[in-house]
Amino acid sequence: MKIIEIFETMEYSPAPENPALALDWLKEHKSKFGLFINGKWCKAKSGKVFSTDNPASGKKLASISEAGKSDVDSAVRAAKLAFPKWKALSGHERARYLYALARQLQKHSRLFAVLETMDNGKTIRETRDIDIPLVIRHFYHHSGWAQLLESEFPEHMAIGPIGQIIPWNFPLLMLSWKVAPALAAGNTVVLKPAEYTSLTALLFAEICSQVGLPPGVFNLVTGPGQTGSLMVNHSDLKKIAFTGSTDVGRLIREATADTDKKLTLELGGKSPFIIFEDADLDSAIEGLVDAIWFNQGQVCCAGSRLLVQESVAEKVIDRLKRRMAKLRVGDPLDKSMDMGAIIAPIQKERIQNLVDQGKKEGAAIWQWEGKLPQNAEKKGDGCYFPPTLFTNVSPASIIAQTEIFGPVLVSMTFRTTDEAVMLANNSAYGLAASVWSENINQALHVAPKLKAGVVWINCTNQFDASVGFGGYRESGYGREGGHEGMFEYLKPKESGISKNQFRISVAKVKASATTALSLDRTAKLYIGGKQARPDSGYSLNVVNADGSLAGEIGDGNRKDIRNAVEAAHKASGWQSSTPHLRAQILYFLAENLETRAVEFKNRITQLTGVTEKQAALEVKTAVSRIFTYAALADKHEGLIHQPPMRGLALALNEPIGVLGLVCPDEAPLLSMLSMLLPAIAMGNSVVLVPSRPFALVATDFYQVLETSDVPSGVVNIVTGDSAKLGTVLAKHDDVAGLWVAGTKTECTEACKLSTGNMKIIWTNNGKQLDWFDNQQSEGREWMRRASQVKNVWIPYGE
Ligand code: NDP
Repeated sequence: MKIIEIFETMEYSPAPENPALALDWLKEHKSKFGLFINGKWCKAKSGKVFSTDNPASGKKLASISEAGKSDVDSAVRAAKLAFPKWKALSGHERARYLYALARQLQKHSRLFAVLETMDNGKTIRETRDIDIPLVIRHFYHHSGWAQLLESEFPEHMAIGPIGQIIPWNFPLLMLSWKVAPALAAGNTVVLKPAEYTSLTALLFAEICSQVGLPPGVFNLVTGPGQTGSLMVNHSDLKKIAFTGSTDVGRLIREATADTDKKLTLELGGKSPFIIFEDADLDSAIEGLVDAIWFNQGQVCCAGSRLLVQESVAEKVIDRLKRRMAKLRVGDPLDKSMDMGAIIAPIQKERIQNLVDQGKKEGAAIWQWEGKLPQNAEKKGDGCYFPPTLFTNVSPASIIAQTEIFGPVLVSMTFRTTDEAVMLANNSAYGLAASVWSENINQALHVAPKLKAGVVWINCTNQFDASVGFGGYRESGYGREGGHEGMFEYLKPKESGISKNQFRISVAKVKASATTALSLDRTAKLYIGGKQARPDSGYSLNVVNADGSLAGEIGDGNRKDIRNAVEAAHKASGWQSSTPHLRAQILYFLAENLETRAVEFKNRITQLTGVTEKQAALEVKTAVSRIFTYAALADKHEGLIHQPPMRGLALALNEPIGVLGLVCPDEAPLLSMLSMLLPAIAMGNSVVLVPSRPFALVATDFYQVLETSDVPSGVVNIVTGDSAKLGTVLAKHDDVAGLWVAGTKTECTEACKLSTGNMKIIWTNNGKQLDWFDNQQSEGREWMRRASQVKNVWIPYGE
């Protein structure tokens, strides 16, 4: 094209990136790759291979080994053997390896970027300017955490060999998000990349060899979902870190339910992009382009639901269409493209089906009208999809609720701020949200109300190694990146053998005992701040250690749990109350419990049969524990991250919402309070199921709650068969989190049954805790358990 023509048409000329470097690398390997296990390359034992193609051309790039059971076993064995030595290195030694990896990645950044573009179909602009620089930043940042591990996390230690399963949308970036913190914390890794995109992980394994990373510290097993499933079910992997679809996340949670495996799940999303009428509309539209057409919309946190204030909706949609018309879709290796290829034909088909669904639902569609590239190899349609906009979308429609995972934006309007928040939260997901307003008060007023792990104010798709990323609700749990992300790869140091052996032999009622009860001593349930009769109308006997009848408790059922959950939701004001207020109420609670110390001591002695001295110690420790959480209520503060931008990210510790607590039998007062206190100190409201045989301790305790100004509905107590009630809580979709201290079977059931809304779950996995031991049973670890981190990004400057 002549220069004069360029001036006249303002058309872009092609600006292709040279693929020679990547093609040479493939040639060097004869386009064949094995597995990387224990520092060596090997073929899959089965001899099976699969191919990886360039989505932009359909052309095969390489053959890759498919790891089967014995390969996964070998990789896990290597990681297990390497773990003790790797963990025993000083933080400084591990930091040097991570630094070396960062440097090597930096030196080969162009090769990584080109290879990623060829394997994934995303534009070179993105791999070169976003993915790879962020990968490098992750290794630098986590080299720092390795160096500081002992001083910054003195109470924590590495977990062990870890299985990591990553998706195809950000192949090397997801590898770095997982591998860097895992190695920094002293764990070893077995990683499985997605079948579509293994190449950059294979190149990364070469770099591990080049820097002399000890064998077995990083192992790579390529293969399909089945390979991932073998890892999930491997008993020697102590944690699974997964990014991918919510459906597979659910399967993983169910498969690991009866194990000790730690789990972090980073799942799908349907993130709102909210434009208020006072926003800088041109900036917001540029943000929108980035939110939904970045990586062809194949982004878990894509701003795929546009919510725009009615007064500016027409203007926004108009300008947006004009901007969309100018987007450039084509060869991903062309440096001036905005959008590249969709990962695979099947994914393109899935997007098309959802778009057809949208049309059927009556939404208005507007699509980019440029010419999509053809598939050079197969002479058919290329694997491209046009930028697409739906207006007139109903909030309940399938396209407004389902993750499309493609370049498709659905838009809706709102009138008031409350309506915007309601629409934004009208999703099963909760990964990210973007808020656009020139009024910072307005934006900061809205941010805490959004159910999302990340909120971007006047910006979108910002990521950094120092800032945690992860979701609420069905978007999963756990955070990746930053200080908060390090905890996901650590566990509390063990405090040795439990000093306190609990006597939990439950006596049987003596045949003659019932007749001795002349007055009605049935303790009712406690729901919404009131004593309530159980729906069933039945009660259960509670027996003293000597076999005499102590009293009766209500036999709670599904309906009582439903009422309790409803009451807990009504107490949402507790979440927004000031930490100072919560602290004051907790101190008052301690005071009131102490006033009745003798009564509780007697009750515990009679019910459990422990000595008076032991029971007195339990009450005394309980009072001290209340003081601890009163103290922590206003001290479990967030952090201010300073990512490399003109701005900051506020990491806020937020309550989870309504928590279900199923309490154990041992030390019934202390164990119940050890679970209840961190939950309410953080601002959660709870539905508590006390120990079945010692439930009278809990029903005595609601009298203390009543006198301590704990607002109605913050603590609800439902007595009865704790295993059955635990099951109801696990299945309840309005319960956001569940803690179960029970038998192994109860814990497994709770994990399996609570995947409906992907509750955040903690169980003791059937192991007794020492509730008197402060290290195990009190403190910040519990506050972390009772909270989730929301990162609010705030850019500043003109
Ligand atoms: P998957 O969840 O299937 O894949 C994610 C990773 O898990 C891949 O490595 C995959 O292997 C592996 N995997 C698949 N099945 C199992 C299993 N049973 N046990 C263990 N590991 C398994 O996502 P898809 O690639 O199929 O994409 C489907 C949809 O998921 C997308 O349309 C999108 O909605 C969502 N998604 C969300 C992502 C996110 O970032 N949150 C990322 C990717 C997808 P393999 O690829 O080899 O099959």
